[in-house]
Amino acid sequence: MDKLFHFDSPRDHYRADACVLSCYDARFDQAIRKFLKRSGIAVYDMVKIAGSAKALAAPDCEQDRAFVVRMVRLSADLHHAPRVLLIGHNDCGGYGGAPAQTIIGDLFRAAGVLRAALPGLPVECYFADFDGIYRCDAPSAATMAP
Ligand SMILES: [Zn+2]
Repeated sequence: MDKLFHFDSPRDHYRADACVLSCYDARFDQAIRKFLKRSGIAVYDMVKIAGSAKALAAPDCEQDRAFVVRMVRLSADLHHAPRVLLIGHNDCGGYGGAPAQTIIGDLFRAAGVLRAALPGLPVECYFADFDGIYRCDAPSAATMAP
């Protein structure tokens, strides 16, 4: 092997402040990084896949859902991530132009999938828009229409 680049990476194992599932759309990278830092989440396991929560809520194939659940479980097992942040974003190519409400609905469905698969691991939903990051709270049972 030829060494092409020198950099000293830390050798110590770490405890993650969170496991973060987001889309790989680079337009939101900086906002998400700054939001996480502002939120006190300094060390995190980032699972980046096209469409973010879509792979859990409405996967193209069932294996996708199992794979993402496994990645989140590994983050909790290996790096003790105490919480999961699901971040969707506006104008997501994974949704082919679907409105924000569709993406947010999938965040809630994805949170349900993770809560069922990994009970006891808190899951939070966020929506990245072009002007910032929003917290999305699923409607409570009391306020949901029958
Ligand atoms: Zn996207």
